[in-house]
Amino acid sequence: MAGIDIKISEVGPRDGLQNTKIFMATDAKKAWIRALAAAGLPEIEVCSFVNPKMIPQFADAADVAADALTIPGPSIVALVPNLKGAMRAAEIGVRGLSLPISASEAHSRANVRKTVAEQMAELAAIVAYRDALPADRRFRINAGISTAFGCTLQGTVPEADVRRLCLQAVAADADSVSLADTVGYANPAQVRRLLSAVRGDIGAKLDAAHFHNTRGLGLANCVAAIEAGVTALDSSMAGLGGCPYAPGASGNVITEDLVFMLESMGLKTGVDFGALLRAREILAAALPGAEFFGHLAQAGLPKGFAGAVAA
Ligand code: ZN
Repeated sequence: MAGIDIKISEVGPRDGLQNTKIFMATDAKKAWIRALAAAGLPEIEVCSFVNPKMIPQFADAADVAADALTIPGPSIVALVPNLKGAMRAAEIGVRGLSLPISASEAHSRANVRKTVAEQMAELAAIVAYRDALPADRRFRINAGISTAFGCTLQGTVPEADVRRLCLQAVAADADSVSLADTVGYANPAQVRRLLSAVRGDIGAKLDAAHFHNTRGLGLANCVAAIEAGVTALDSSMAGLGGCPYAPGASGNVITEDLVFMLESMGLKTGVDFGALLRAREILAAALPGAEFFGHLAQAGLPKGFAGAVAA
């Protein structure tokens, strides 16, 4: 992307809200997403097209996504758990979808009620559906390999399993593959090793990495991912987030702190700090009582800080 070294995908409206007890009002979601876009975030994952009986927070997914698609600027993407979700998203015009495929059988059954092999077959079904659409309605599909660094249910996840799934996803014609530390088990040495191996296997189809800050290693893992050649990272405003079907999972890497770290390192994100903190205020007003994280929001920018876009 022009002028950007690292693409941050803001996943707060999806990963952040799926674990939030309060239903965030639809208009507040729309206003927050607009504020995130105004801050310059190049990609926003705005919702999950999951069955609202499973996660009521996303009962308004179609409405929220349709509104987000009218915002000029950011890529609007959505999570889809299955073909049905992909069809709902595609009908609205979402052009970037991500399908989670667990590297852990236990998490796969808990999260999407399918075996890993069945979920890989779901990817193939989504690709076939996509390819049958008229050219102007086709979407990109990302295979998001979840629990790639360990699982609260299964424990250790063999790296060979993750590499095999990435190769299978590419063979099934996924446009890209990302690796997710769904439950916050990853460490930087593991991240560097596994992402480098997967990059060797599938090259530039390895698109992004997604870390949780459960044990405080989120930012360190982001640096390790960059060292392994990854140029896109997921994060969530205020560190909201967690998988409702992975016991003990907690917040994502905090967007505000990730932007600060990258800009401090001389890596351009395209994000404006002032506008980012205004978006955080909108979120705080809409989610009273929710636990917010973030060092930058507490401490502010260092005096004379030159790496940021001035606000
Ligand atoms: Zn996550």
